[in-house]
Amino acid sequence: MIGRKLIKKTIKLLQSRTNYSTSGYNFELDSTQQELQNVVRKFAREEILPVAAYHDRTGEYPLSLAKKAWSLGLTNATIPVEYGGMGQSTFDNCLVTEEISYACSGIQTAILGAKLGQLPVIIAGSDAQKKKYLGRLFEEFLPTAYCVTEAGAGSDVNGVKTKAVQKGDEWILNGQKQWITNGGIANWYFVLARTSPDPKESAGKAFTGFIVERDWAGVIPGRKENNMGQRASNTASVTFEDVRVPKENVVLGVGAGFRICMKFFDSTRPGVAAGANGVAQRCLDEATKYANERKTFGVPLSQHQAIAFMLADMAIGVETSRLAWMKSAWLYDLGKSNTYAASIAKSLASDVANKCATDAVQIFGGNGYNSEYPVEKLMRDAKIYQIYEGTSQIQKLIISRHILSNK
Ligand SMILES: Cc1cc2nc3c(=O)[nH]c(=O)nc-3n(C[C@H](O)[C@H](O)[C@H](O)COP(=O)(O)OP(=O)(O)OC[C@H]3O[C@@H](n4cnc5c(N)ncnc54)[C@H](O)[C@@H]3O)c2cc1C
Repeated sequence: MIGRKLIKKTIKLLQSRTNYSTSGYNFELDSTQQELQNVVRKFAREEILPVAAYHDRTGEYPLSLAKKAWSLGLTNATIPVEYGGMGQSTFDNCLVTEEISYACSGIQTAILGAKLGQLPVIIAGSDAQKKKYLGRLFEEFLPTAYCVTEAGAGSDVNGVKTKAVQKGDEWILNGQKQWITNGGIANWYFVLARTSPDPKESAGKAFTGFIVERDWAGVIPGRKENNMGQRASNTASVTFEDVRVPKENVVLGVGAGFRICMKFFDSTRPGVAAGANGVAQRCLDEATKYANERKTFGVPLSQHQAIAFMLADMAIGVETSRLAWMKSAWLYDLGKSNTYAASIAKSLASDVANKCATDAVQIFGGNGYNSEYPVEKLMRDAKIYQIYEGTSQIQKLIISRHILSNK
């Protein structure tokens, strides 16, 4: 168990960390990062991993673990120091994500997904919005959510039909969002709505982001969806019926919503890749252990070259996808464009996680197909990485456009 002293020491260390290497190749974590990784690894392996199967089976939200992560500062870590957080870098956030995801990527999405609504506010919110909406997150564990997707608009954000119309000092919001992480339990939402009455308006000007509180009249969170994997996480629809949003809850400005969403993806995709990397590493570790224990034809599985080479391929994927998320996070933290690198990382790591999970099931044979063993869950959990935060096809669109435009 993680004690209070260790929590305090870790938070202090994280808050004091401000300098990041800007040049020269370096493949080593600094001592603070190593410490962060160790603390989170301990938390993940001792407290999350043992209950992962339970939350997968029941779909119960891991509230006590989320509260523990909150007390460790993990759910508010990326909030800037001046608003009470640790100002944690994207890189360090990815380190945390990979460790928790190794133990259970569903619990990782449940816990760290609590930050999804925070990010647009951190990226583009006003000082007053940050004080009010980020500030309250330090009083108790309060998840937030990011509401963009709708039944008719996932990959194609331009298809968003949720509408906001200005009336005096308020905006009247109507529409329904779908597949929203923490949609059923968030305290407040970042909501993307169409504000331009002109159907031909460009995406870059047609949409606006709003902060919407769950308790406001007309906000109707849906029931938890019954998903294939990452079942500890809460995914739900959210309906908005004539919700009155004060004009001070417009984020950045009218028409700025699409730009905020694109910047959001630059910051989240490295983390999604790191989460997939955690799943892939777990698959490799489980498969290696099993291959050393299980014997066929008088020798451990690992001594059959066909199995050893599968493990080698898994290791190649794990190591390279880790380098990819690291580069994309490092670029983001330096304020450099990372859209291309983040799409490469997200696309590679999610494919690697799925390949590793499929191969881990194969190495486990019949046992791999059964829920008494861990790899069946890993295979179900891995799939979502190719879908949320932009599908693998959308990542390839971004990558190919970048290459073809020669940027
Ligand atoms: C568990 C879960 C959690 C989620 N959390 C959130 C959240 O917190 N907030 C949020 O806003 N959304 C969330 N989403 C939504 C998610 O981001 C979308 O599901 C995803 O972007 C895909 O959109 P779609 O489902 O509408 O699929 P579609 O856009 O209909 O795509 C269907 C298929 O067609 C492919 N495709 C689409 N367009 C093209 C193209 N131009 N070229 C080639 N292929 C294409 C896609 O890659 C995909 O394979 C979540 C989804 C899930 C399942």
